[in-house]
Amino acid sequence: MHLIFHEQSLLLVKTSSTWALPNATHLTELDLQLSKIVLADTALVAQLINPEQVALNAALELVNLRQVVNLLETKLVEQVIFAQQMLHYQRTNNYCAQCGSQTMLAPSSKWLYCALCQREIYPQISPAMIVAVTRGDKILLAQAKHFAADVWSVLAGFCEVGESIEQTVAREVLEEVGLQIKNIRYFGSQYWPFPNSLMLAFTAEYANGEIVLDADEMRAAGFYAADELPGRPSSKYSIANQLIDDFVQRQLG
Ligand SMILES: [Zn+2]
Repeated sequence: MHLIFHEQSLLLVKTSSTWALPNATHLTELDLQLSKIVLADTALVAQLINPEQVALNAALELVNLRQVVNLLETKLVEQVIFAQQMLHYQRTNNYCAQCGSQTMLAPSSKWLYCALCQREIYPQISPAMIVAVTRGDKILLAQAKHFAADVWSVLAGFCEVGESIEQTVAREVLEEVGLQIKNIRYFGSQYWPFPNSLMLAFTAEYANGEIVLDADEMRAAGFYAADELPGRPSSKYSIANQLIDDFVQRQLG
């Protein structure tokens, strides 16, 4: 398996109706130059140095990872995400943050190591929450200011230092739309690589308050019935979409 990245994109091959990973021939044919190569058990993971070569083969394309997650099968998407995150981890930890020494891969380990401080350096994972708030038979959907016009989603936000994830859920809903919620229940989780979040998903119910938007972040928000949703998340793969699917299924059967 060849997972070749360039910045936030992955090299893919377009066949008649599907997308696939490139093979060894594609790499040698085009003289693709690679750096920061990670040889996993089953995959070659690398960064592409000369992306201009890709245009020489009409079937090859560098596809943004936000699209890739919707184009490939879930199991493959998970491998792509793992590879991209490990590559990012290696690329951004060349030096020890404590003493400035150059890091190295610890022997027979996937972790980088500072020989001077004698410590392993692990990839950063940021916990974040995402929540589907319902009020009767309606769900709270919102548009952040950076969303495209047809994109609506449930609320999400990062966990802050010292918070439980349930406190994050309540705080973010209050901050973004001014509502108090109750009955916060765990739904599931998903690793989300933009940039490095473990998304912990919840459901909750409206308790109190009127919608007051956070003027800096939010463009619109409201409660919508399952058959009148104003839009959807931009990614079908996202757990946001799974939360909304779950709501729609419970309402419409
Ligand atoms: Zn060090």
